[in-house]
Amino acid sequence: MTMLWQDLHTHTVHSDGKSDIRLMIQTAGVYGLNTIAITDHCSDRYSFDPERLQQECAAARKEAACHVIAGVEAVVLDIDGHLSIADEMIPHLELVLGELNRKTKGCFESGHPEQRAENIIKAMVNACRRNPCLRILAHPLNVAAPAGVDLTLFTDDLLDELALACKQNQVAFELMSDQWWWFRTQPLDKVTEEYARIVSYIAGKGVELTLGSDAHSHQGVGNFIWAMRVLQLADIDESRIAYIMPPNPTPGVAIAGAKEANSHEH
Ligand SMILES: [Zn+2]
Repeated sequence: MTMLWQDLHTHTVHSDGKSDIRLMIQTAGVYGLNTIAITDHCSDRYSFDPERLQQECAAARKEAACHVIAGVEAVVLDIDGHLSIADEMIPHLELVLGELNRKTKGCFESGHPEQRAENIIKAMVNACRRNPCLRILAHPLNVAAPAGVDLTLFTDDLLDELALACKQNQVAFELMSDQWWWFRTQPLDKVTEEYARIVSYIAGKGVELTLGSDAHSHQGVGNFIWAMRVLQLADIDESRIAYIMPPNPTPGVAIAGAKEANSHEH
């Protein structure tokens, strides 16, 4: 089966991106992506208007050559897993990503890196359990780098907890192609290998994987280069990447379900 590429994590001028929604979607079409999700930040730094984002996505969909998903990248505010989005926003959002940052309360106060690693996992697990709207963990474990937590501290036991919470709540683990950026002061071959170990373990437990460029300008759309390297190192076939069904499909653009049904006939 040919891969139907989906870039499920991008930013626009609605938060800290440089390009507008229309240009991001145009680019995805030109690059031959099947789907682009617009997932601007909802945090204390940006006012987020989901209705406006949804309307702009709907308008752009009329001339789009790919599926368009109107989403958000919410912040996991604390170790209990509360998200930065208000309940009344949820009906306007077709995809919710959740990210930890250095301000996630209760995660980084401990002086022990092992404890901080445990807390990072706990915050993600609680976010999965607490928020039925949460669909994707954005660049999981990126925050380990600035928090001085070595990736080797994410043991099989911790990853088991995370994998279980993801599976039980249908939350995907994102392969974000710029993940290495947070770890750039470390030996990058080692970082890539270690992240591949984590991805391999999580995928082995049956957790869905998704792709995200986290592009902040149209030029970054569909950049999955490092993510693909991780997949290769983890010995995971591209067909393991989950297809997220677009809730408002663009007419005339293929969806994975339809494609699979067709190929079974031959
Ligand atoms: Zn992002």
